[in-house]
This record gives sequence, structure tokens and C-alpha cells, in this order.
Amino acid sequence: MELYFLPKSKINLLMEEILGEFTVFGPKQKDIQFVFEEISHPEELRLDYNTSILPPVKTFFPNNEKLIAFNLNNIDKTEIVTNENRKILFGVHPCDINAIKMMDEIFAKPPQDEHYLARRKETIIIGLNCKKPCGEKTLCYDKGTYKADSGFDLMFWETHDGYVVQVVSNLGKYFTAKFSYFFNFFTEFTENFYDFVDNFQSEQEQNFTKKLTHNIFELPEALRETYDSELWHEIGAKCLSCGSCNIVCPTCYCFDVHDVVDLDLEGGHRCRNWDSCQNIGFACVGSGENFREKSSQRNRHRVFKKEVYLPQNQGFSGCVGCGRCNNVCIAGISLIEIYNRAFELQKNQEEQK
Ligand code: SF4
Ligand code: SF4
Repeated sequence: MELYFLPKSKINLLMEEILGEFTVFGPKQKDIQFVFEEISHPEELRLDYNTSILPPVKTFFPNNEKLIAFNLNNIDKTEIVTNENRKILFGVHPCDINAIKMMDEIFAKPPQDEHYLARRKETIIIGLNCKKPCGEKTLCYDKGTYKADSGFDLMFWETHDGYVVQVVSNLGKYFTAKFSYFFNFFTEFTENFYDFVDNFQSEQEQNFTKKLTHNIFELPEALRETYDSELWHEIGAKCLSCGSCNIVCPTCYCFDVHDVVDLDLEGGHRCRNWDSCQNIGFACVGSGENFREKSSQRNRHRVFKKEVYLPQNQGFSGCVGCGRCNNVCIAGISLIEIYNRAFELQKNQEEQK
């Protein structure tokens, strides 16, 4: 592991150099919120952001994507459309790093998603550790995703006048060597890193609070007990089936595929768009049967997929606790409330036994 120090006064100069060589995606302000999008000018980068509307992982998995181009006269001319520009994701928070790790695993499983993997390949991920939670509705402290121990090439740790830069991969070494050689942006970090991390973590412990009444590891079992409970009817009655909770989620990966034929009928494209398990037609099959017709069933499925089925089948939770779904829901539905209700129901059931 290599360690450097980067003064805040040099960030804009560094960005100018980086933008000359890479496509950079990072947090920038949009009205009173932040978006994680392509950066065109150094001043756009806002490392003091709380959270972004859409998560950084959507850079690798965009809505509205052409998967293949086909020619109806000659099927051999079918080509795979990919986009392999070399890029940097700058300022990714630990919860989103953990989400990217999860999506990497999902999309790399056979059959591999070559479009996601082509965009992901060779992307340099520069993490930015959080000293405090980005909002009231996050679950990252309960889930342990407020920190990341892998899944990044460099990690920035903020100090009052700069950033301690932790380099953990060959891509990270390439990055710091490239920009240090000519411009000396990065100076050696001479303090004891482990003492620095201890102090940083003490600050985190003071700022982050748990939102759940029970340990997160007890959640799958508690949720299983709710399967036939009133809870889902109550949530279903409030939900507007808008799908916003899925759209902003860094770990939702469902999509729909459709063909668009050119007007000359000679060829066209096969495209994909994000889909949402909260849409009424999501579980509708050819015969017209809808396996999750009711909103209560769809809401239960969203939560069970993340917190029961994925832990059971893949060994990890499908939620990194970023809080975006809680922030965006116009019906005021919150995972924190659902999870605590599940714990409460489980406790009541145990007391009645
Ligand atoms: S954002 Fe809220 S209202 Fe919209 S589908 Fe999700 S839970 Fe329902
Ligand atoms: S389910 Fe909600 S809190 Fe969990 S990762 Fe998705 S958006 Fe974030």
C-alpha cells in the first residue's frame, strides 16, 4: 500500500490534468441536490457532496442502452455495441463502492454481461471516505457499508487542509505515478497511517448512529416471519407504484429488452432499459397471469429480494443502506420503518408463544 498527501489547494490543478486524459465522472451540484455525472470543468467537482440522486454504478449500467445492432438481410453483420472509454469515477462513497462490488459480482456471473463489464474494465475508482452520514435516512452504519476495505483503486481520507491518499491497486499506482511525475501533486504521507485511521474512525463513531432496533444479521429471519402479515397490506396501500425506489437504487439491476427496427426495415437495434419490480406489469407473463398483481406483493418482493433471497442464494444482502429509496419515496415509505416493524412483529410473536 502506498500513501500520499494531496493539499486541497491542488485539487483543481490535478483535475485539469486528469480531464485532459480521462473521462471523469464525479459529484456535481444540480439545484439543491447532487448528481454523479461527467465532469467538464475542475470547479464542477464537489467532494463535499452528501449523496447523489443516481448512484455512480449507473455509469456502467445506463438506462436506454443499445445491446446489439442487427441487419435483417445479413444476420452475420450483427455487432455488439459497447463503449470502452477509459474513465475515472472520482469521489465514490463507501456505500456506493460496496454497491459496485456487488454489481460486479452479479454481472460477471455466467452469462456474463459484456456491456457492463466493458464499461467497468480499466475504470479507476477513487473512493472518498465519509466522516459523517449523508442524511437521516441511511442505514450504512447498521449495515457496515459506511466503510469499504476493497473495490477501489485509491481512497481519499479528508483532513482539514487536504486528503490522505491510500493507493491499493496497480491502476491506483499508475494514476499517482502519472500525475506525480511531472506535477508533483502527491507528496509523501509521513505520519503513522494506522494512528490517522484510528482518529478518523473515532470521529465516524461520534457522527454515525444506528437506525435499527436489532442487529442487521437478524433481519432475514425477522422478515420471513412477516410474509403473511398486515405490514405488507399497509405498505401496499400507501405505495404509488412509481418505481422511483428501484430507479435510484445502486443495487437494483432488473431491465427490459426490446427491438427497435429502422424505418427502412433493413436493420435495427436491440435495446435495454431499466425496469422496476414495483411496476404493475413486471411479473405479468404471456398468458396474462400476473404473479404480483397487488402492490403489497410487489413491495414485499422488493424487500425480500434484497434482504432474504439474495443473502440466502448469494451470501450477501442486496441493500447497502445508502438511503436513496427512503429519500425519494413520495409516499414516505422507508426501509428503516419496515425493518423495525419486522423486528417488532417478530418480538410480539415470540412473546405470544
Ligand atoms: S418510491 Fe415509494 S411510492 Fe414509489 S414504488 Fe417505491 S415504495 Fe412505492
Ligand atoms: S434498497 Fe434503498 S437503501 Fe438499500 S441500496 Fe437500494 S436505494 Fe439504497
